[in-house]
Amino acid sequence: MARYRDAQCKLCRREGEKLFLKGARCYSDKCAIERRAYAPGQHGQSRRRKVSEYGLQLREKQKVRRMYGLLERQFHNYFKKAAQRKGITGENLLQLLECRLDNVVYRLGFAPSRRTARQLVRHRHFTVNGRTVDIPSYQMRPADVVQVRERSRKLDSVHASLRDAGRAEPMSWLRLDKAKLEGELLERPKRADIPVTAQEQLIVELYSK
Ligand code: SF4
Repeated sequence: MARYRDAQCKLCRREGEKLFLKGARCYSDKCAIERRAYAPGQHGQSRRRKVSEYGLQLREKQKVRRMYGLLERQFHNYFKKAAQRKGITGENLLQLLECRLDNVVYRLGFAPSRRTARQLVRHRHFTVNGRTVDIPSYQMRPADVVQVRERSRKLDSVHASLRDAGRAEPMSWLRLDKAKLEGELLERPKRADIPVTAQEQLIVELYSK
């Protein structure tokens, strides 16, 4: 499957804010945004012209898409699903993205970034409700329990990530049992519970044209 292979930090620099794509490095002074807070490329430092309404909508969409590590078509498919659901489309969109298995693994602290979480899922290190699941886009439902597989319990990367994640506030919509290396999706997150600084309404406007 196609995937983005270029430098992750370029994406943050392009969006002009931290997207937290690299785990611990993002919290250190090695973060590229701290050192070079301008867009990559030859014209990155030149003064920007006034951004059009379309430009704002596009940037917001790109930001969220890159945050969750999705390609355009995958992201657009999430939007279509969100639009078919009852409620606010923008909130539905973020909810669908947050309930992806790779994101839940990341939010629980089993992986330092969504990218690593995706790799761990693909390598069959997790079960959902007792069954091995190796599909990062798997949609978790309330009461679903994700657990590190028996054979993967000694993985250094999982334990190191949990130690680092211990400093952060746990998500209110997730339950984590560190001793059992398992977590549960208690409920679908509400917008206020999703720590993403995006104006999702702009994405809805962009795709509704
Ligand atoms: Fe983005 Fe992290 Fe790179 Fe900083 S270190 S620019 S937050 S990916």
